[in-house]
Amino acid sequence: MTAKILDGKWLSKSLRQKLRERAAILLEGGIQPGLAVVLLGDDPASKVYVNNKVRACEECGVKSFRHALPPNTTEKSVLSTIAALNADPEIHGILVQTPLPSHINMRRILESISIDKDVDGFHLYNIGGLVVGNSIFPPCTPYGVQLLLETAGIDVSGKNVVVVGASNIVGKPMALMLLQKEATITICHIKTRDLAQHTILADILIVAAGQPKLIVPQMVKRGVVVIDVGINRMPDGSIVGDVDFDGVRKKASWITPVPGGVGPMTVTMLIENTVHAAERKKL
Ligand code: NAP
Repeated sequence: MTAKILDGKWLSKSLRQKLRERAAILLEGGIQPGLAVVLLGDDPASKVYVNNKVRACEECGVKSFRHALPPNTTEKSVLSTIAALNADPEIHGILVQTPLPSHINMRRILESISIDKDVDGFHLYNIGGLVVGNSIFPPCTPYGVQLLLETAGIDVSGKNVVVVGASNIVGKPMALMLLQKEATITICHIKTRDLAQHTILADILIVAAGQPKLIVPQMVKRGVVVIDVGINRMPDGSIVGDVDFDGVRKKASWITPVPGGVGPMTVTMLIENTVHAAERKKL
């Protein structure tokens, strides 16, 4: 068996076309969706992510506003930047690029974003919404994974879904979203004993640990659907996921590549949430 590819690049392209059309309709009514991106410090990876997001905005007719703040910016100053963006009618979505410098309380920053502009979906209001299956802006990475599965016709209802990684931005919201779709969920993390004992039972395995080759063929059953969220930069500059792609694809029915799987979907769902935020404003 060789797995079929869950092609996030291809799906993103067609989704972005539709987003461009929705943005054009808004523009006819005098509203251009606007996304503010706040970047604190000079982390090179964060700069790359921000550039990707700004490029995707341009592609979809969303206006982007970049706020690059020096690394020593005080928390008070970040909070007043966000307060100004909350009040700005041209801005429909606000994203604060993480990680933040250690002197900044990330939770305080995320809670300061208006819930109507929380397009990353990290505000407690939106996270709480996930628990009851009613969030306004689902977090972008899990939202993108859900759409990849849906588009391929992979029904999660009643399936054993194993999520490896329990972060607030990927693992936990992913688990909540698929629980809402009636999957049976197992969440594994660094303290999980014998990871393979869990992954081998997965009908759908979602890996977001940030560990290259964490998942090898012996850890999965034949026919599994594998979603690799991991992005790891190797010493030679190449980017790999958390899954031994060449080995695991021989046993899986579907698999996401890295790059070209979940990554482009994350950015696309950010634009989806921003356009959605502008549409809500219009109502
Ligand atoms: P994170 O905050 O570091 O969380 C990683 C999670 O994996 C934690 O729960 C950690 O447990 C767990 N973990 C680490 N090593 C493990 C192991 N050996 N066995 C089991 N669990 C393990 O990272 P994140 O922000 O969720 O991101 C995860 C990966 O996805 C990274 O490679 C990141 O670059 C990538 N990512 C990709 C996208 C995309 O669009 N494709 C978006 C976001 C993130 P502890 O917390 O207990 O240590």
